[in-house]
Amino acid sequence: MSDKQASTSSQKNAWKVWVDRDLCIGAASCIAVAPKAFSLDDDAKAVILDTIDQEQKETVLDAARACPVAAIFIEETKTGKRIFPK
Ligand code: SF4
Repeated sequence: MSDKQASTSSQKNAWKVWVDRDLCIGAASCIAVAPKAFSLDDDAKAVILDTIDQEQKETVLDAARACPVAAIFIEETKTGKRIFPK
């Protein structure tokens, strides 16, 4: 995995979710909202957890909305359509 990006596919939501680690300031808002989807690593940057599918779709989206620097991106896996940010 590139150091600049943490990404995963959410099977449940049919989403590709990634974090731009250059943008991430480690505010941890995403973790407060969706603790099964995001975590901070040793560099205090967000990573995406394998347990992301234990969160509801709206929760993952809310976590992306909660990020103060909009470092979380969501796309539809199949179509590549941007879900967030619009
Ligand atoms: S909310 Fe944004 S800035 Fe904060 S840890 Fe998550 S991705 Fe990083």
